[in-house]
Amino acid sequence: MSSITRARPSAAHPSPSKSRQRWRKFLSYYRPHLPLLAADLAAALIVAAAAVAQPLVANLVTTGLIGLPPGPDVLNQILLAGGLMLLLLAVQVGASFFVDYQGHMMGARIEADVRQELFEHAQKLSFGYHDRTRTGQLMSRITNDSLWLGELFHHGPEDLTITVLKFAGAMAVLVYVDPALAGCIALLVPFAVLYALHFNGRMSRALARSKQEIAAVNERVEDALGGIRVVQSFANERLESGRFATHNRRFLESRREGYRSEAWFSLGADTFAQLIVIIVIIIGALRVREGELTLADMLTFLLAVGVLVDPVQRLANIIRLWQEGHTGFVRAMEILEVEPDVADRPGAMALPRPSGAISFRDVGFHYAGGGAPVFSGLNLKIEAGSFVALVGPSGVGKTTLCSLIPRFYDVTAGALLLDGTDIRDITLASLRRQIGVVQQDVYLFAGTVAENLRYGRPDASEEEIVAAARAANAHDFITALPDGYATDIGQRGVRLSGGQKQRLTIARAFLKDPAVLIFDEATSALDTESERLVQESMARLAQGRTTIVIAHRLSTIRQAERILVLGPDGIEEDGTHEALMQQGGAYWRLQQLAARI
Ligand code: ADP
Ligand code: MG
Repeated sequence: MSSITRARPSAAHPSPSKSRQRWRKFLSYYRPHLPLLAADLAAALIVAAAAVAQPLVANLVTTGLIGLPPGPDVLNQILLAGGLMLLLLAVQVGASFFVDYQGHMMGARIEADVRQELFEHAQKLSFGYHDRTRTGQLMSRITNDSLWLGELFHHGPEDLTITVLKFAGAMAVLVYVDPALAGCIALLVPFAVLYALHFNGRMSRALARSKQEIAAVNERVEDALGGIRVVQSFANERLESGRFATHNRRFLESRREGYRSEAWFSLGADTFAQLIVIIVIIIGALRVREGELTLADMLTFLLAVGVLVDPVQRLANIIRLWQEGHTGFVRAMEILEVEPDVADRPGAMALPRPSGAISFRDVGFHYAGGGAPVFSGLNLKIEAGSFVALVGPSGVGKTTLCSLIPRFYDVTAGALLLDGTDIRDITLASLRRQIGVVQQDVYLFAGTVAENLRYGRPDASEEEIVAAARAANAHDFITALPDGYATDIGQRGVRLSGGQKQRLTIARAFLKDPAVLIFDEATSALDTESERLVQESMARLAQGRTTIVIAHRLSTIRQAERILVLGPDGIEEDGTHEALMQQGGAYWRLQQLAARI
């Protein structure tokens, strides 16, 4: 089930051009924050410079001390050097504070930008994408994974600056003080780098796997808690707990490799740092004994080694943050790189209010993923303003046919025209603005009744909302709610009955005032009384629009001007109830079936 979205090879080994593209994209996020980035880097530079300068000042004072008789000159020199070192410390503290605070804020701002972009992009992705992708997976990428992006964007440039400068600066001081000893230390560096690269790669792979596994855990939460009513009604909590435990365990296991590599990594960095100190002390002492190095220089050397070793010791932490951020970034890019299947064509035009004539011209359609074609060579004309009922056995493609009109999916052959214009030449927003769809499973948002109604037209006035609710037979039950129109209906509107929710969606459609209206089995889940109320409002809403009704109960569409019978080979029959009954074909058989139930 989740294997579709899991472990795409492209993620682990992107092509060079894709890497370059992602790299450019990464840098582009800094663009709106360049002044802050510059200030952050400058502060990082100051932190590193101040750290490197400390041993030099110390060198000044210690070298000055040796061999001089104690006197006011020496005292002055000590005080001067001490003052200088305190000043350096103050500068370093100030710059560090700026880096930690503003630098992190810059990272957080960029992270917010990426998250916003992700959300907006996920909203644009077409039905086809959302059919394939679980919401839990998307949620994980948009919320969890992006949490690390801020660290990457912040620590990326600035830690790099500090690490490189401190290392290079300290190295320079070492070479200046004692080239031979510095050479010994430099010999260790390639080994350290190789070691780091090895475990870095392992950490990166482990983290990528971890992120996939936590997304799978998220998916289970979404699925089981989203469907909690079904879970509880089947008393299947144990089954769900078991499934959750499986994914939870896999996540746990996936972290083992990550922590193992991280432990090796930080162990290596620490050991490397301590090795250097030991080498300096031993070789340094030997050289002092031989008279090749003064004690003062050795002290400077040890201080400089402290500066050199500091970024190395922090390296494990830094690299882990980068890795977390990097895998999160890659996972975000994977979403952003998906182009919506359904998008505005170049030159697509906004559609002024159409009259609502629909025509299918040799339409062929199959869902992505290699299923059998749902339609091929389908031809159908629906007059503007007419009322058409669409019937046919379950799974024959009624919903699919209606989904093609607002371009939830694009036809794979032929064309679909609205008022004579290929709908692909109309901007999506203006096309969908003109089409209202009322489905069997109602989706209401968390919020009040009024907010949900206003979703149909955000600028609707109070009066318009009430008028729409009245037309949808919803006003009476709304006013009977505890807070009337201001009642919070909770997520998915659980506190309303099916018929009430359906009437709210109809009121929402009234406010939208579309030219084309589609009812897809809108009443099939309702009891007779609710169905009557909903049907009444449907009839009212249908006035003056092209209306397509997919009906589950045939009794509800007898009065339709035109009944279309959809079969496996397309539209099989087309006519009024009476005409089709007389014909004694598919429609007649459907009626016989319905009568028997
Ligand atoms: P109806 O509404 O007439 O019951 P549908 O239009 O829902 O039928 O389905 C038509 C066919 O397309 C069915 O075989 C169904 O399995 C398939 N189908 C429907 N939705 C999807 C989808 N999102 N992805 C892949 N196949 C689908
Ligand atoms: Mg259907």
